[in-house]
Amino acid sequence: MQQSPVLQRDAFFVGGEWRGPAGTGRIEIVSPSTEEVIGSVPEAGDADVDAAVGAARRAFDAGDWPRLAVAERTAVLERALQALEPRAAEIAAAVTAEMGVPIAIAEQLIPGAFWTARYFMGVAEREPLEELRAGALNTAAVLREPVGVVASIAPWNGPFNLAVAKIVPALAAGCTVVFKPAPETPCDVFYLAEALSEVGLPPGVLNIVTGGRETGAALVAHPGVDKVSFTGSTAAGRQIGAVCGEQFKRVQLELGGKSAAIILDDADLATTMQGLAMGSFFNSGQICAAFSRVLAPRSRYSEVVEALAATARSFVLGDPFDRATTMGPLVSERQRTRVEGYIAAGEKEGAKVVTGGGRPADLPQGWYVEPTVFADVDNSMRIAQEEIFGPVVAVIPHDGPDDAVRIANDSAYGLHGGVFTADEDAALRMARAVRTGTFSVNSFVYNIEAPFGGVKCSGIGRDTGREAVASYYELKTVNLPASMAERFSPS
Ligand code: NAD
Repeated sequence: MQQSPVLQRDAFFVGGEWRGPAGTGRIEIVSPSTEEVIGSVPEAGDADVDAAVGAARRAFDAGDWPRLAVAERTAVLERALQALEPRAAEIAAAVTAEMGVPIAIAEQLIPGAFWTARYFMGVAEREPLEELRAGALNTAAVLREPVGVVASIAPWNGPFNLAVAKIVPALAAGCTVVFKPAPETPCDVFYLAEALSEVGLPPGVLNIVTGGRETGAALVAHPGVDKVSFTGSTAAGRQIGAVCGEQFKRVQLELGGKSAAIILDDADLATTMQGLAMGSFFNSGQICAAFSRVLAPRSRYSEVVEALAATARSFVLGDPFDRATTMGPLVSERQRTRVEGYIAAGEKEGAKVVTGGGRPADLPQGWYVEPTVFADVDNSMRIAQEEIFGPVVAVIPHDGPDDAVRIANDSAYGLHGGVFTADEDAALRMARAVRTGTFSVNSFVYNIEAPFGGVKCSGIGRDTGREAVASYYELKTVNLPASMAERFSPS
């Protein structure tokens, strides 16, 4: 029988133990669909953060973990995954309860997280850690060593999956981690901590503290942290980057986006709408890589607007635990206020709501917003320039491929982009011309095995692919005399 998810926690996971908070502050978890308080977690203050970083520091400086063979570390991780798998349904229920994603989707996401973990473990096992580099003057051994103590901070929009994608590559590489989930979705990562603790992860290798912005800021600024891996808003990323720059901490920033899907005049509309249903509206539009701008050829503008409006109307909004629901509420009241503010701003600037634009009349409770399509949008409007992070799409006309690339690139962001066309050569030309870290052709895909990340205000670094594992290593060059170079055998 499936257990109810655990949404009430009274301790942090620090130094291999469940450790009560130093202070009394708590964070309530509010159901996005019922608006009721469904749980709470302690809020970590400076003393709690200090204890967590101290435990991670000791485990890194004096513990076995960084010095184990990669296969020994991944064996522990594999045992933890096996302990977790029977709890997949419970974890999915926790994610749905906390953030409102429909249960049928959450149930697909959790096995995806296990798959992602095993992919990263495999990369760590396969990638060589040491190599000889012959130079003009001598031969050097180039060693990859774990970066150290990693502070990982995550948003709420894919809580379990993002936690796994941040923690597993860092641990596999031999780092120790202090993880802070978002205050809206604090409970899912504790399942991972429980499983790792059960299978004998050494104390201090993974530590979890819960809290909001202040807890995150204390973690980032802590002198015991060597690297910060952050996923969240560009505003927070800017502050974190500044602190890390001052302290020369390694930093990885996966931030916001305003990604453009370019539709060329030969695009198949059915394929395009399939891509946009996922790309623009998945997770109620609360995805960093969302196609929140749709660039439609002027000659087919009305046709695209009508098809997109029909796609938006095809979603079934409702109770996220109802299997018929295909779109849940937004995560929080704050998020709904933000999204509604952008809808009002779009109307004020002269864009036209073609469908949606309000709260669904039949769902008086919960932070629901109708999937919304704006037409008559100019790329200079706020709804075309700023990240909304909700089910709101701006359709902007273009006058051909060059004009579409110009509009796509006229953005502070550069996370993702896409093109829909029957012309494969044109697709590749567009992919090369749009300045983003990721690009999709005739689809919306999140490819774990390839690097994912952004340029410009969308961040620094890559969070997936073998590049993600590589980012948890420092490079060390050891210059060798010829006699040692001859005998050196890379481990
Ligand atoms: P947020 O920046 O408000 O919060 C993210 C996390 O950072 C939370 O855990 C929060 O408590 C913490 N935090 C906030 N300010 C901080 C600070 N100054 N110092 C340290 N920690 C701080 O973002 P959010 O609203 O939770 O998430 C939505 C944002 O995340 C969107 O902008 C979205 O695009 C972005 N995102 C990006 C990616 C990506 O891979 N590029 C993936 C998912 C989400």
